[in-house]
Amino acid sequence: MINMPNLNDVFKAAVSIKSMISETPLIESRELKSLSGASGLMLKLESLQNTGAFKVRGASNKILNLSEEDRRRGVITFSTGNHGKAVSYVSGLSGIKAVVCLSENVPAYRAEMIRSLGAEVVVYGKSQDEAENRYYDLIEERGLVPVVPFDDPSIIAGQGTIALEMLKVRPDLQVIMVPLSGGGLLSGIAMAAKSINPSIHVVGVSVERSPVMLKSLEAGKPVILEEKFTLADSLLGGIGKDNKYTLNMIEQYVDEHIVVSEEEIEKGMFFAFDKHSLLIEGGAAVGIAAVLANKINLKGKLAGLVLTGSTIDQKKYIEVLNKHSK
Ligand SMILES: *Cc1c(COP(=O)(O)O)cnc(C)c1O
Repeated sequence: MINMPNLNDVFKAAVSIKSMISETPLIESRELKSLSGASGLMLKLESLQNTGAFKVRGASNKILNLSEEDRRRGVITFSTGNHGKAVSYVSGLSGIKAVVCLSENVPAYRAEMIRSLGAEVVVYGKSQDEAENRYYDLIEERGLVPVVPFDDPSIIAGQGTIALEMLKVRPDLQVIMVPLSGGGLLSGIAMAAKSINPSIHVVGVSVERSPVMLKSLEAGKPVILEEKFTLADSLLGGIGKDNKYTLNMIEQYVDEHIVVSEEEIEKGMFFAFDKHSLLIEGGAAVGIAAVLANKINLKGKLAGLVLTGSTIDQKKYIEVLNKHSK
């Protein structure tokens, strides 16, 4: 019997993670409001979160609630992106040993970013799969405690605290739109929001190039897709063949799914820069992309979009701005 995380876990998480996170702003977008005909359109700026993405919420809820024994053993993960950064950051600040396994393909600046936050970086193998195998070996060899990026009740409850903050500022929110990859973020937000107000319409936004959760929902079980390049690189990766939580929770709590293209993501990133002076990464721009492409009906509704992070290669970002600036 698996215990799914509930609203109470999210309230507890909010207390646990207090010292590790910032309560990020919820700002109005008048431009998106008028373009969409919404009665109001709010942006939740997790792009300004400590470490540059929301992942610090789940990672701190997991790591700070480990037993004394587990804290002494130390933690390990193999994420190259925002989750790896978050695990390194929280462990570094709490005096817990952390190991992050990366493959040789991961750009050196990323390894350095993770290392500078405190973790030991183990570079191994020519692919993410080989790095993952090394990760399993190290769990055995060194007795480290795995901290997975999304399919874990503590991680899901930590990400769900975003919904509490949004509803504290605007309890009248009617629609919440969330980027979707492994689904820890969407599971947590959807469960928390629906438990507080079941009439809130929760929307997941996936990328056309990597809609792994959508295909898995259709198949009724986790599927594996070939990895393709996307500007939204934080949304790459599978949902895990032994997925226990996020697939079920998304099936249960999410009302609508949208997919967006690469071109639409670029426009979303440019819009955030142009209208709001906000630097957001591709994975964070999918909600704005969906609204700009008219893929959701928000007429007369008060909507909230989660802008999830700001980790992006500088050259890639500048390319997008150059391409779309007038
Ligand atoms: C991890 C991540 C997501 C997706 O979160 P999941 O829990 O994997 O669905 C979205 N945006 C950014 C910036 C992320 O780092």
